[in-house]
Amino acid sequence: MLNIINNTLNKYKKVIKTINIYAEKIEKYNDAQLKKQTQKLKKNLKASNINSHDILAEAFATAKEAIRRATDITLFDVQILGAIILNNGHIAEMKTGEGKTLVAILPAYLNALHEKGVHILTVNTYLAKRDAKLAQNIFNFLDIKIGLVTPEMDYISRKIQYNCDITYNTNSELGFDYLRDNMAIDIDQTVQRNFYFAIVDEVDSILIDEARTPLIISGVTKQNNTKYKAADKLANILESFKHYEIDEKGKNIILTEEGIVKCEKSLNIVNLYNINNEWIKYIINALKAKEFFFKDREYIIRNSEVTIVDEFTGRIMEGRRWSEGLHQAIEAKENLPIQSENKTLASITYQNLFLLYEKLSGMTGTAKTEESEFNKIYQLSVIEIPTNKKCIRKDLPDLVYKSEYYKWQAIANECFDMYQMGKPTLIGTTNIDKSELLAKMLDNLQIPYNLLNAKQENATREAEIISQAGQRYSITISTNMAGRGTDIILGGNPIAMAKMMIKHYIKSMGKFHKAKINLNNIHKKLYKSEKINYLINQIDISFLKEDNNTSETKIDTYIEQIANKNYPLNKINEKNFQIYQNILKEYTILCNKEKEKVITLGGLYVIGTERHESRRIDNQLKGRSGRQGDPGKSRFFLSLQDNLFRIFGGEQITVLMNTLKIDDNTPIESIILTKSLNSAQRKVEGYFYDIRKQLFEYDEVINSQRQALYSERKKILRSIFIRDCIIEYGENCIDEMLFFYTSADSDTKYKILVRILKLLNINTKLYINELTKIEATLIKSFLYEQLRISYDLRENYLEQLRPGLIRKLEKYYLLQQIDQTWQDHLEKMNLLKEYIGWRSYGQQDPLIEYKNEAFNLFINMVTSIRQNVIYLLMRSRLIINI
Ligand code: ADP
Ligand code: MG
Repeated sequence: MLNIINNTLNKYKKVIKTINIYAEKIEKYNDAQLKKQTQKLKKNLKASNINSHDILAEAFATAKEAIRRATDITLFDVQILGAIILNNGHIAEMKTGEGKTLVAILPAYLNALHEKGVHILTVNTYLAKRDAKLAQNIFNFLDIKIGLVTPEMDYISRKIQYNCDITYNTNSELGFDYLRDNMAIDIDQTVQRNFYFAIVDEVDSILIDEARTPLIISGVTKQNNTKYKAADKLANILESFKHYEIDEKGKNIILTEEGIVKCEKSLNIVNLYNINNEWIKYIINALKAKEFFFKDREYIIRNSEVTIVDEFTGRIMEGRRWSEGLHQAIEAKENLPIQSENKTLASITYQNLFLLYEKLSGMTGTAKTEESEFNKIYQLSVIEIPTNKKCIRKDLPDLVYKSEYYKWQAIANECFDMYQMGKPTLIGTTNIDKSELLAKMLDNLQIPYNLLNAKQENATREAEIISQAGQRYSITISTNMAGRGTDIILGGNPIAMAKMMIKHYIKSMGKFHKAKINLNNIHKKLYKSEKINYLINQIDISFLKEDNNTSETKIDTYIEQIANKNYPLNKINEKNFQIYQNILKEYTILCNKEKEKVITLGGLYVIGTERHESRRIDNQLKGRSGRQGDPGKSRFFLSLQDNLFRIFGGEQITVLMNTLKIDDNTPIESIILTKSLNSAQRKVEGYFYDIRKQLFEYDEVINSQRQALYSERKKILRSIFIRDCIIEYGENCIDEMLFFYTSADSDTKYKILVRILKLLNINTKLYINELTKIEATLIKSFLYEQLRISYDLRENYLEQLRPGLIRKLEKYYLLQQIDQTWQDHLEKMNLLKEYIGWRSYGQQDPLIEYKNEAFNLFINMVTSIRQNVIYLLMRSRLIINI
């Protein structure tokens, strides 16, 4: 393993050396000279005689120097190595705290020189803002524009941000903007450029964890309530085993042959599985509602509404609804008003979204375990980058308890011991309930702690708490994902401390409720000195007096301004800035002293409380400790009753549970146990991988259709003159409708001609008899001609009334028809996928069946778009309302 890592380093040693030689030279440039580098490199890039290796080396060196000037940080060689890997379009696996944020700056700069836009994507807006701010300070030295997209922005600002050289964004905003752009009616309202190069931070979280569910833009539709009611009635008549089978494990219903016949008869339809009538969906949902969903168990009824009860926590899930018509089916069963269904207007999976990039790269602390998935789906390799300093964290063997109760007891006791020692401890939990359970136990032991869980969705506060989790006496309970992207500094983070204490002071001086701050008494003692007290009291808070109703955000903003020296120039601000600087200096000294103490205590201790569904998430938690060569340790406390054991452990575990005769509060260490635990975890990983793979394979089909449709749509959106396109559509319609003409009997021939003439809005009586007598090829040219004449007439008519209107109408009808038909198509594709699951195909691969039928549906869709547009345009009139 180590050899492979070192080989990577060796392979790029020469390049790194060249970069550093350039950097030494550039270090001597003055600011103006440094700024000129961007223009120079852009020119070099265009010149054919300069080799791209030299440009890479010089560009990286330039960025390295800009980083040094802006932050006083000199990049380590391993960081430069990471940057090279990113630039090559791979995933760089670099541990937490290795400084990935700065690593991304180098490839971002080099690729920005191509002027096609670079995207840096993170998991939440807090991180995007934080990193964009840092990048802004750095790139000010290089004349590179930094953009940032945040949720509250309108499309005008978004467009500006996407047009910057480098844009920071979250994965979800990126995806929604993409979908919205492809629904825009006016080209001015689209915000994104083509996808060129992306660096995805915390890449496993985005491309793997979040890739399980697609992004969906939905709208409310009108619906058919009677169908829900009728299906409910039918479900009550159908008998289990006779008409349908129940699959408990998969929570599924399968109709028997007899059941299918019964349904078709009762509903008076020919084929229950016809894609154009949706009955089957209603029937299956009604049966699910009958067999699997019970009042006061899966749901309760409150204010005449069906409200979901969470199956793991027993909590009421406010405002959530089961999807795909299931919720409505339950409403029908309970005789309650049926609420409207959401219709998918546009959707895409992250897999396909990110595959749109010409070049994709990513970084994270944990990717190696998922290497094959990255490889197969995204064609991304995972390259491990050595740490700057050797990692000396000790990962201790698991302790397994017989029951959950004793496990938590042991964890609480461990926290108690650690607290007595003052050793900072971080406890990772898998859900809210467990974290609150532990919190209660710690309350009983009278140990102060910080609790982070999914309840407060406040990334800022999360980051604040996590950044202080390395202080002495800190006990932090956190769900695994909380505070991702923030690293834990032993002894505390001086900048965060300074800001926090100033905020605390300002709040205690203002008209607030009692100040709330996440520091316990010991911390207050540790992190306050006479000098700091004195300094803080010097802060001028006259800005508070301007209004009586100062909000917390206002204080935060003020402190940020002061800390970053970007405030309106005046004496007070100037003075507060000086005080801030002095407080920061004090805290830096204090935190460094504290760090020494924490190190003698052995650094941060990470406790895992359950094996997660993937090893990667466990590694993520362990990786919180032992950053940059710090000491640290980790340990997992498990029990035989943990979900992973229960659901995926199988027989072996149960047998073990019964045969191991030891007392309850002694942990078990057994090789068989560890083995079956690891295999259970692999099983779960495999299970979720399959789900994602399946989603991906099915979505690939829609994806190629989506690409075809979106690119046609974009062409239309961008063009100003689409008469030719309309005429072509008309000709296509004629061709398609004439396709069977020669082989048809005379009766059908007649019908075909009538249909075409009607479509083109041509007087049928006038031509029909003539036409039936002539040859097929002549008919075609005649109709082509009529199409043009008919269209010219329509155009002239409209042109006289309102010049220019026809061009607008063409575009409008086209886009409108594309969107509407696509949405209907999406719905049909959804149904199709469900049907494929319900039908059995013997030896046949359902995916192939799906692909075939999907293809037919797509052809039908394209045909109906064309026909509808022609039909509408040939009949457009101007009605002027007075
Ligand atoms: P990661 O994303 O890899 O977990 P961050 O980018 O958040 O790490 O960086 C962690 C900390 O390390 C930051 O405070 C950053 O300023 C600091 N840092 C990054 N590179 C260096 C360096 N070369 N020397 C010293 N400190 C660095
Ligand atoms: Mg990071």
